[in-house]
Amino acid sequence: MDTSVNAPRPLLSVVVPCYNEDPVIAETARQLRMFCDSVAADTDTELVFVDDGSRDSTRSVLKLLGEQDARIRVVGLARNFGHQIAVTAGMDAARGDAVIIIDADLQDPPDVMRLMLAKWREGYDVVYGTRTERPGESAFKLASARQFYRLLNKLSDVPIPLDTGDFRLMSRRVVDVLRAMPERDRFVRGMVSWAGFKQTALPYQRAPRLAGVSKYPLRKMLRFATDGILSFSTKPLQMAMGLGMAAAAVSMLGIIYALWLRVFTNIWVEGWTALMIAVLFLGGVQLVCVGILGEYIGRIYGEVKRRPLYVVQEYVGYQARAQEPLF
Ligand code: UDP
Ligand code: MG
Repeated sequence: MDTSVNAPRPLLSVVVPCYNEDPVIAETARQLRMFCDSVAADTDTELVFVDDGSRDSTRSVLKLLGEQDARIRVVGLARNFGHQIAVTAGMDAARGDAVIIIDADLQDPPDVMRLMLAKWREGYDVVYGTRTERPGESAFKLASARQFYRLLNKLSDVPIPLDTGDFRLMSRRVVDVLRAMPERDRFVRGMVSWAGFKQTALPYQRAPRLAGVSKYPLRKMLRFATDGILSFSTKPLQMAMGLGMAAAAVSMLGIIYALWLRVFTNIWVEGWTALMIAVLFLGGVQLVCVGILGEYIGRIYGEVKRRPLYVVQEYVGYQARAQEPLF
């Protein structure tokens, strides 16, 4: 990057998805503003808060902050669209030469952003935070997340870094690649890996949530994990095929055995148990395979409808944008 005196000052956008973050949002904004002040010598900053349809006072707090600080912009979505879509809306609204995504609960320490910025200046396009420790999370969440990232990597066609969340810096060209990807089951961290360019890891210690509760209950975690796997791999389909073939092979043995009994012995009336096992086993295999197919077809259906990814109810701090269509 050109860092000579006459070069225009780079603009850094910090995108913060927020959903019912009432207990922490004011403190988060305070710390992020402190960060902006601390880099103000050589970098311009904007804070893009995406309110993902919060039902508490998050939106009004954000709007108030936006009126006080010109660097703060708010994108208010029309309802809760989910974390990954909120991140996408933030990236669409961000205007920076580099964009950092950070959670609203201060689990990702704002200080790490300075190191990310330094790496970006060195010429990296993506600097992703890798969690070395995660105090304050349940043993179940840690174990399931660990296993998930390893499984995902086995299945995925592009390598996706282990133990890496969405806390990362991306250069403008990477953000533009992501914005050109229209898929709706968005798994942002995988999409960034797919984009390529020069990427590097930045290990950091993940703090416990400052206040409030996790917005990722088990159900959402499972959904998120399925999205990750199905958007980045067709291996489940191949596995379904493998399972079907294995079942067919076992059935073949059963058929030969049944014929052998019928032709060469006279005990062929018996065998209810074997019959039930065969029917249930084959039924199970078929349902699993149809289910896997169904997951993919459901996603195809979602894509085919071509709905916008999100609906913006209001922009705060975007005079120019307010006239544009909302999505
Ligand atoms: N979030 C969001 N929409 C949602 C769920 C979560 O914008 O539907 C935001 C949330 O406010 C937070 C970030 O996504 O800033 C990560 O969520 P959370 O901290 O609850 O997840 P965890 O850290 O427990 O995995
Ligand atoms: Mg969190």
